[in-house]
Amino acid sequence: MKELSLKFLTMNKTILLNKHPNGKPTLSDFKITNSEAPTAKDGEVLLKTVYVSVDPYLRGRMNDAKSYVPPFELNKPIQSGIIAEVMESKHVDFKKGDFVSGSLEWSEYQTSNGTGLSKVDNTEAKLSSYLGILGMTGLTGYLGLTETGLPKEGETLVVSGAAGAVGTVVGQVGKLMGCNVVGLTGSDEKAVLLKSKFKFDHAINYKTTPDLKEAVKRACPKGVDIYFDNVGGEISDAVLANINKYARLPVCGAIALYNETKVPLGPRLQPIILTKSATMRGFIISDFTEKFPAAIRQLTTWLKEDKLTFSETIVEGFDNIPRAFIDLFDGKNKGKMIVKI
Ligand code: NDP
Repeated sequence: MKELSLKFLTMNKTILLNKHPNGKPTLSDFKITNSEAPTAKDGEVLLKTVYVSVDPYLRGRMNDAKSYVPPFELNKPIQSGIIAEVMESKHVDFKKGDFVSGSLEWSEYQTSNGTGLSKVDNTEAKLSSYLGILGMTGLTGYLGLTETGLPKEGETLVVSGAAGAVGTVVGQVGKLMGCNVVGLTGSDEKAVLLKSKFKFDHAINYKTTPDLKEAVKRACPKGVDIYFDNVGGEISDAVLANINKYARLPVCGAIALYNETKVPLGPRLQPIILTKSATMRGFIISDFTEKFPAAIRQLTTWLKEDKLTFSETIVEGFDNIPRAFIDLFDGKNKGKMIVKI
């Protein structure tokens, strides 16, 4: 009996890509398998997953197409940013009880040779914050805005996807740089949160505003100097119609288009970019890797000084990882979407 229960404890669930999603992902695109947990060999650590980051960019990796990161393979584990605890170490750099972050598999347990793992300190900050405000999305908001948006005091900054993990950082950093900040989001509740918790000057619910172009014009009486684009599509068309001369347009994401099977044709942008002498610049956060240590120091300082805050939507349970990922496309998250195992 005792042997049986010990055996049960070492079982290990893993989530595989079952099929390439067609349009919006569904639960049947994923498959959960159960097998015996691995053990660490020499030079390896055994990791137990604690927090899993679900992110919109993973949708692109689920297509059978090349992008800036290789696509996930059918019947192979999905990977994303994960915080894990070291359960057993045969690696000189790690000891039992350490917490690490890295791009890891959607498994309850896995081994690693240490490549790409960084230790995280759970006494400095909440462990989950290393997937959000002190992780990839915090860096994206801060470095994306400062390196490509080039904000100046008194300018007007518009952010789409404003109430999400990246958008909440962009808006707050914009305020710290002295900008007038306007956020676009998909619910009244999130619009209230943007103004009350994150100190945005204005927030617009794009789902209930009949004329978005006019609403942006009213919220930005001096025009738009920076448009930090997280979503693309028609929301961005409405903002681009209001840009000023020399506007900067960081293109961070295009979630409104990720599930399109045929990318819809929007207004042709060249006349706007030309007549406004505007700069539209796409970026991938890894473009700024050498700036990460200084950026983390800055974000940590602002957090300690209460100049920066964050929200997390924490979903519980390993089996709910695919559901949490799909819910990103229905705006179920406020701030960073994370699954606690
Ligand atoms: P979020 O935390 O913002 O979550 C996604 C949000 O997008 C939802 O909550 C929802 O908010 C909004 N959304 C969903 N579907 C649509 C739609 N069809 N139209 C408009 N809004 C929609 O995610 P992240 O902060 O992690 O990422 C934001 C963007 O930044 C994504 O596009 C992502 O791919 C990109 N990104 C890019 C990086 C880079 O290196 N360039 C790095 C990290 C992220 P709402 O309720 O307001 O609609």
